[in-house]
Amino acid sequence: MIDFTDEQKMAQRMLRTWAEKELVPLVPAMERGDVLPYDAMRHLIRSFGIDEMARATFAKATPGGDTNAGGERGFFGGDPALSAIVAIELSRVCPGFALAFGASLGLAGGAILAKGTAAQKKRFALPILTGEKIGAWAMTEPGAGSDAFRSMRTIARRSGDGYILNGQKTFITNAPFADVLVIYAKLAEPGQSENERPIHAFIVEKGAPGLSLSKPMEKMGMHSSPTGEIFLSDVCVAKSALLGETETLPARDRAREVFHGERTGMVPMCFGVIDRCLELSVAYAKERQTWGKQIGEYQLVQEKLARMYMHRENVRNLLFKQLEKAHKKVTISAAEASASKLYCARVATECALEAVQIFGGNGYMREFTVEMMARDAKLFQIGGGTDEIQITAIARQLLSE
Ligand SMILES: Cc1cc2nc3c(=O)[nH]c(=O)nc-3n(C[C@H](O)[C@H](O)[C@H](O)COP(=O)(O)OP(=O)(O)OC[C@H]3O[C@@H](n4cnc5c(N)ncnc54)[C@H](O)[C@@H]3O)c2cc1C
Repeated sequence: MIDFTDEQKMAQRMLRTWAEKELVPLVPAMERGDVLPYDAMRHLIRSFGIDEMARATFAKATPGGDTNAGGERGFFGGDPALSAIVAIELSRVCPGFALAFGASLGLAGGAILAKGTAAQKKRFALPILTGEKIGAWAMTEPGAGSDAFRSMRTIARRSGDGYILNGQKTFITNAPFADVLVIYAKLAEPGQSENERPIHAFIVEKGAPGLSLSKPMEKMGMHSSPTGEIFLSDVCVAKSALLGETETLPARDRAREVFHGERTGMVPMCFGVIDRCLELSVAYAKERQTWGKQIGEYQLVQEKLARMYMHRENVRNLLFKQLEKAHKKVTISAAEASASKLYCARVATECALEAVQIFGGNGYMREFTVEMMARDAKLFQIGGGTDEIQITAIARQLLSE
């Protein structure tokens, strides 16, 4: 696969039109925190029939059968190309909005669709896919980020037929406003050391006694995606809250799959940022004049544009390789996913900063989109595993072969 099909290109054009008409006018207010991204998310879901598609899939499922609305990898009938197009088009306009959308439907909804029971998918994933509920996916803790599994302190203790959860999560996208939270915790087994404890995911609903959600945290970028903390103080959940409703399959492998999805999912977001920054930079290089000449005539500016173009082509190639493998159901290795994420995150940040440079003083001003892109792109080098963690994952695989 080296390009989108005609049908996919049509969907891309429709999404671009929707984003320009519906999203662009909201971006300044969302970035200031005056407007939340969720009504626009619902509008997008309705406008593209994502809700109807999900409802139809669930209606067709046999009772007790393995309902899989949107497939294991997300929404839009599980078509990875369409999911990538959504990520590209939303990130071209507002990466923070794309992050909030992806964390709800892709991470939280995707985790439940991939590993939940049929009843859990219907009760929790379906309302996320239809936009009735907002999802959050919570792994990171104040003392457990890069070493999320090893240092996790959130604990689940068996109690009667269910569990009692205690702990804290941080930096969780959508947490302040989430209705459905997928929360990872270590199951306390008598006689086991902390490291040996199996990790499981629990679905907790907003309003559960003992659950508190913080206000949105103030951050450098991604202002359109609210980020927050989660506090669990003796939160009682039924056995039906355990994702997959079985203790025999510890969630470490399942969470690793979500990490994997998070890494590959950032590639189209990076492409969207680079594509927009290049488009804006080329237009500005033709328009802005110094010493009576367009700045695009200076070789130092041309070099920046050429490098941005080169990076965009490389990211595009990585994206289509990833889509081709997904289409053929060939698994991407951990090193490959890490290498793609590492490269794309670094060049997205470089391109966004170079776009600011091309815009000069205007580039530093909030009213010019490249300023937001530069702050937002930096998150790609941190979220979903930092650059350094990707490097260690690549090296680990190379040295073990
Ligand atoms: C805006 C935003 C949204 C997020 N959304 C979510 C979410 O929805 N759900 C969720 O679970 N998490 C989320 N996160 C958390 C994110 O995944 C973590 O911040 C990230 O994994 C890094 O963990 P940390 O912040 O604890 O950094 P740390 O682990 O403390 O790392 C600090 C520094 O040390 C380096 N380092 C650590 N270990 C090593 C090592 N072994 N070798 C070399 N260098 C090392 C790191 O690379 C980094 O530079 C979000 C974060 C942000 C900023």
